[in-house]
Amino acid sequence: MLNRRQLLALPAVGALGVVGCSQKRASATVPGSSQVGLSPKFLEGHGLAPVVVDPALEIRTITGLRPYRASGFVVRKEERGAKTLVHNYGHGGGGMSLSWGSAHLAIQQVKAVTGKSCAVVGGGVMGLSTARLLQLHGAKVTLYAESLPPHTTSNVAGAQWWPVSVFDSAKITDEFRGQFVEAAEFAFRYYQSMVGLRWGVRWVPNYFLSDEPPMNGGMSGPGSLLHHLQVNFRDFGPGEHVLPAQYARRFHTMHIEPAIYLAELMGAVQAAGARIEVRRFASGEEMLQLPHFTIFNCTGLGARDLFGDTELETVKGQLTFLLPQPQVNYNLLSGGFYMFPRTDGILLGGSFEKGVADLTADPAVKARVLAGHTALFAKMAGRQSAQRIGYAAGLVAISPPAP
Ligand SMILES: Cc1cc2nc3c(=O)[nH]c(=O)nc-3n(C[C@H](O)[C@H](O)[C@H](O)COP(=O)(O)OP(=O)(O)OC[C@H]3O[C@@H](n4cnc5c(N)ncnc54)[C@H](O)[C@@H]3O)c2cc1C
Repeated sequence: MLNRRQLLALPAVGALGVVGCSQKRASATVPGSSQVGLSPKFLEGHGLAPVVVDPALEIRTITGLRPYRASGFVVRKEERGAKTLVHNYGHGGGGMSLSWGSAHLAIQQVKAVTGKSCAVVGGGVMGLSTARLLQLHGAKVTLYAESLPPHTTSNVAGAQWWPVSVFDSAKITDEFRGQFVEAAEFAFRYYQSMVGLRWGVRWVPNYFLSDEPPMNGGMSGPGSLLHHLQVNFRDFGPGEHVLPAQYARRFHTMHIEPAIYLAELMGAVQAAGARIEVRRFASGEEMLQLPHFTIFNCTGLGARDLFGDTELETVKGQLTFLLPQPQVNYNLLSGGFYMFPRTDGILLGGSFEKGVADLTADPAVKARVLAGHTALFAKMAGRQSAQRIGYAAGLVAISPPAP
């Protein structure tokens, strides 16, 4: 049994806001713990189940190439003779999130689509969303793609609804900034109508951990482009939470299960009458030979060779999945690592290899990602048990974690 002095010597306990003498216990309140639905006495993160990181639990390791453009994704119309070609590609690490919004902007490029016969080239999230929105506008759609779900990059996405790694902020224009925010807002609203088991979309709290105070501006926090979409946003400092870092930034986002979502979306596109043709185009010119006057190019990385867009580059990502752990119900992102709990497995990620196009899984990356998450969740479990011990000994002015 630990005595009080030993308890105070626990580094984690100090960081948890132990109250040094027991008479303070009754009056102490924990700052910053106004989490929705919880009593203010709980420290943030108190009831979160740490992930069990054990290589024996691995079920698969997969890789994918993010279609990245430093100046941002392309939504642009070109008139090519009698044909209208609308580009919608290059969404980097945020295509799952932006899909409906970018599809909406692409369709806006064409005056009226009702009753028109349109081709959509691409069977990833961007092609399928564009096809579905076109149908909802009354267009007749034929979808062409070399690969369909589950064999697209979109199926590899971690699929947190949060469009990051989409552009380099030093390289974007004000016009693109507007396009990005408009796409994000539209998609954020649209996805909310798909929350539920049918589409595999749900709300989840996200914790971004750091040992320095979190930065504001850019993509996160007050003053950032999408701060208005950071629901239930709050920063927690030392002593305000039990997560394995000095600082924790929390906000809620939706999370998408690609295996469920993309299959359902493809089914919806087909059910609404679209014909789907598996076909590879060797060039943009070949695409323009299609018997449709309006063609949407949603080919992701494919656009680089099809239309000579040399700005498109690959950013390789590798994900290792462990057996599902249904007790884990939050996303955790720390020091370049990220964990998303999905029904098809606990996703562990943390690799962004610019310019790498080889899809072979790298054992060294897997070892690094597993080691990083092992250390993170061991620290989290340690802090939680220190909190429980501290509470049991009457040293922490908080309630015990929920069972
Ligand atoms: C590891 C990883 C993690 C990610 N995590 C997230 C995340 O958490 N959140 C998020 O929002 N996004 C995430 N992304 C990014 C997201 O996956 C992409 O931005 C998105 O999938 C791009 O969709 P897309 O439809 O443009 O491309 P794709 O899914 O690649 O689809 C392209 C389609 O075009 C077809 N095509 C290409 N060339 C041709 C051709 N010549 N002829 C015929 N058809 C062609 C392909 O066959 C395919 O059907 C992640 C990506 C990776 C790799």
